[in-house]
Amino acid sequence: MKKRVYEVAEDIKIPAKELIDFLKKEGISVKNHMSALDEETIEIIKVALAEEKMKVKQEKEEEKKIITLDRPPNLKELSVQLNLPLSKVMQLASKLGKVPSIERELPWGIAEKIYKQHNIKVNLSGNLKKLLKSKVIKDSELTSTIKSPVITIVGHVDHGKTTLLDVIRKSDITKKEAGGITQHIGAYVVNLKNNRFVFIDTPGHEAFTTLRARGVKATDIVVLVVAADDGVMPQTVEAINHARAANVPIIVAINKIDKANANIDKVKKELSKYQLVAEDWGGDTLVVEISALQKKGIDELLELISLQAEMLELKANPELPAIGVVIETRLDKGKGVLGTVLIQDGHLKIGDYFVVGTTYGRVRSIMDDIGKHITYAGPSTPVEITGFNQMPRAGDIFQVVASDHFARIIINEREMEERRTEKKEEERVSLENLFEEMKKGKLKELNIILKADTQGSLDALQESLANLSNEEVEVKIIHGGIGTISETDIMLAYASNALIVGFNVTADSMAQKLAKNEKIEIRTYNIIYDLIDEVKAALKGYLKPKLVEVTNGIAEVREIFKLPRIGIVGGCYVTEGKISTKDHIRVLRNEQQIYEGKDFSLKHFKEDVKEVHSGYECGIHIEKFDDLQAKDTIVFYNFKEVAR
Ligand code: GDP
Repeated sequence: MKKRVYEVAEDIKIPAKELIDFLKKEGISVKNHMSALDEETIEIIKVALAEEKMKVKQEKEEEKKIITLDRPPNLKELSVQLNLPLSKVMQLASKLGKVPSIERELPWGIAEKIYKQHNIKVNLSGNLKKLLKSKVIKDSELTSTIKSPVITIVGHVDHGKTTLLDVIRKSDITKKEAGGITQHIGAYVVNLKNNRFVFIDTPGHEAFTTLRARGVKATDIVVLVVAADDGVMPQTVEAINHARAANVPIIVAINKIDKANANIDKVKKELSKYQLVAEDWGGDTLVVEISALQKKGIDELLELISLQAEMLELKANPELPAIGVVIETRLDKGKGVLGTVLIQDGHLKIGDYFVVGTTYGRVRSIMDDIGKHITYAGPSTPVEITGFNQMPRAGDIFQVVASDHFARIIINEREMEERRTEKKEEERVSLENLFEEMKKGKLKELNIILKADTQGSLDALQESLANLSNEEVEVKIIHGGIGTISETDIMLAYASNALIVGFNVTADSMAQKLAKNEKIEIRTYNIIYDLIDEVKAALKGYLKPKLVEVTNGIAEVREIFKLPRIGIVGGCYVTEGKISTKDHIRVLRNEQQIYEGKDFSLKHFKEDVKEVHSGYECGIHIEKFDDLQAKDTIVFYNFKEVAR
C-alpha cells in the first residue's frame, strides 16, 4: 500500500522534512510531503531507521554524558541538558512525583532518576553533596487548584443576553470602583461573594461555535436566555443544539419575568420538548427565573453557575506554563497585533515565549479585562497581550514554551497536524461519498442540519428524514430551524461533520463563502420528495443488496413421455421469456405449487440444451420429481441483487 511522505514521517515519528532529506540522500526523489511512497521505499526507510537507532544507542553507550551540578536542576535546565522538549521533561518528571514550576528546583530524587534513565552521569559538587546530606532541599509542593468556570450566554435575539451580561458585569463592585468596566477585551472576570466567573463577552453562540469548529472548548457552561414573553424561538433551539453538540452543560435563565405577558410555564413546557426539563417539572435542568432589566434573580443565576461549576470539578495547575485559546484579535496602529487570550491552565508572565496556532512570539505586555497592565495571569483569566509575530486566528491554541527552540518544534508538529486535518477535510461527508463512507464502516450516524421556510415543512421533513434511519445508519437531525442557511449552520456542520439540507431556503452569501472554504456541502430543494428521495438514495446505496426473485420464463407441459433409462419427460412449450438450466423451477398445478427445485435438464429434440426461448418446444426432465402431468405450469426463476 502506498503512503504519503508525511504519513510515513508520522509513523516513524520524525519531521517530514527530515524524511525528505533522507530520501534525497538515498537518491529517491520526492517532491514534497504529499508525494506518494511505495511499499519498497517505506521498507527501506524502516530498515534505515532501525539501523540509525542501533547506531545512536551504541554511541550513547560509548560516550556516557557527564555533567557537574552544584544544585538540583529545574525543569527548564533539565530539558536543555537532555535535549528534550520541556513538555516531554515535564511528563517524565510528573510520572516520578510532584513537579514544581518550571523555574523551581526539582526534588533531587526525581532529577536523579531522570538522569539515570537518560544515561547521564552526574558529578555532584561538594556544596550539593553537603546540601543533599543536610536534607535542606525539600520536595516542592504542587497541587492543582479549582479554577473558575468560563461561561457563554446564548439565546434568541432580543431575549436579553446583552442586558444580562451588562448586569452581571456591573454587579462586580470592585470593578465599578476601579472604573474599568468600559473596557472590552472579549471576555471578563466577575468576582462575587468569593466566587470568580469568566464570561465570554460575545453574546450569541458564534464565538463558541467558531472555537469548537477548531476543536477548542473554551466554554465550561452555557447560560441559555429565553424571554418569558416570547418563549422558545429558532435561535433558542439553535443554541441548545450547539451547546449539546459541544457537550457543554446548559443553565436556563428565563428572562423578562417582569413583563405583564410573561408566561413562565409556557416557556418551561416548550423547553421540555428539547429535553430541558426544569426541576419543578420533574427534570434535572437548572432553570432560574430572572429579570435582567430589574436585576432580579441574578444572584440565583450566579449561584446556579457556581453549583454547576462545582459539579464539573474544573481544575487547573497554576504552576505550569500557560495554555489557552485565542478568543479575539485586533490590530492597533501603535501596538501592533493584540490578541485576547483566555488562559485555561497554567500561568502567563511577561517575557514568556509562546506558540499560537502555527505562529509564535514572546509576551511583551499583558493587560487584564479592565485594561490594567499586569505581569502575571493564572488559570481562567482572559488577558490581552502583545508580542505576536503574526496575527493569530480566533480559536488558535496558545501555549507557553521554554524557548524559541521549542517553539519551532511545536510549530512543526502543528503544521503536521494541520496537514492531517486538511486530509480529513477532503474526506468530509457529502451525499456522493456517503455510500463510500458507510461502506468503510465509518458512518453510523448521518448528521443533518435541516433548514426550511416554514414550521410545517420543517416538522414534516424532520419526521420523514428521521424515518429513513435503518439498522445500519441513523439519520440524525442535529439541528432543525427556519430561515436562511447561515454561517452558524455551517460552523455547526463543520464541527459535527453534518450535511446541510435546505428546503425552500437558500444560504446567505457569508454562509456560501464559508461552506466553500470549509468544504461543507449545502443541498437545497424546492420539492420535499426530491429532498427525501436523494437522502434515501444515498442511504440505500449503502445497504447490502437484497436478493429478489425474478421470473425468467414460463413453460406449459403439454404431453408426458416415459423414456427408458431416463424416466418422466414433459413435453413443454415455452410461453414466456427464456428458460435456462441455470434457473430454479417451480411446478404449479391449478395454481398450487407442487414442486420446487433446481435439478432438471432441458432437451430440444434429442439434444441437451442450456436454454430455450419462448415460442419453442422442449423436453424437461426433473431429477427428483416423477409426477409431472400435462397442463402443469413450470415457472423458471432466478435471483438478482438489487440495491435496497
Ligand atoms: P439580546 O439581543 O439578546 O442581547 O437582547 P438585549 O439585551 O439587547 O435586550 C433586548 C431588549 O429587551 C432590550 O430593549 C432590553 O432592554 C429588553 N430587556 C432585556 N432584559 C429584560 C427584562 O428582564 N425585562 C424587560 N422588560 N426587558 C428586558
